[in-house]
Amino acid sequence: MDAEQLMRLAIDKVREGLAAGQSPFGCAVALGDRVLAVEHNLVRLTTDITAHAEINALRSACRAARDIHLEGAIVAATCEPCPMCMSALHWARVDAVYFGATIADATSAGFNELSIPAADIIRLGGSTVKRSARRFSTSGRPEMRRGHTRQRNC
Ligand SMILES: [Zn+2]
Repeated sequence: MDAEQLMRLAIDKVREGLAAGQSPFGCAVALGDRVLAVEHNLVRLTTDITAHAEINALRSACRAARDIHLEGAIVAATCEPCPMCMSALHWARVDAVYFGATIADATSAGFNELSIPAADIIRLGGSTVKRSARRFSTSGRPEMRRGHTRQRNC
């Protein structure tokens, strides 16, 4: 399972979340070829402000792995992890986090973000998690717009 494939799963999960009235954030976790979790944001549905896609995915992935540590796991998040999620990813000891949209993108789309990039959390905290922000070539990638989301090519 490579980052591109994992990101496709996360994006598909975003679509599912949007259909359920949730915010447009998804996250997938894989260990080798095994997908441990694919989750979307559940904040509105659960009235749990911590139910970000990454937190939900870590909870499911740790349950699937029967371990609190996910050494060697890679994570694909449709948006750059917020400070809470980046901290949890560090504590779970995942190997790498790939993300599409940045915190700045989410902020400009109207989401209430803390403007602390994941790179700063990693650097200031001395984390060994590798971070990669890159443009994924996935067609039909959800595109954020101010105050709402729009699906492109679907
Ligand atoms: Zn978060």
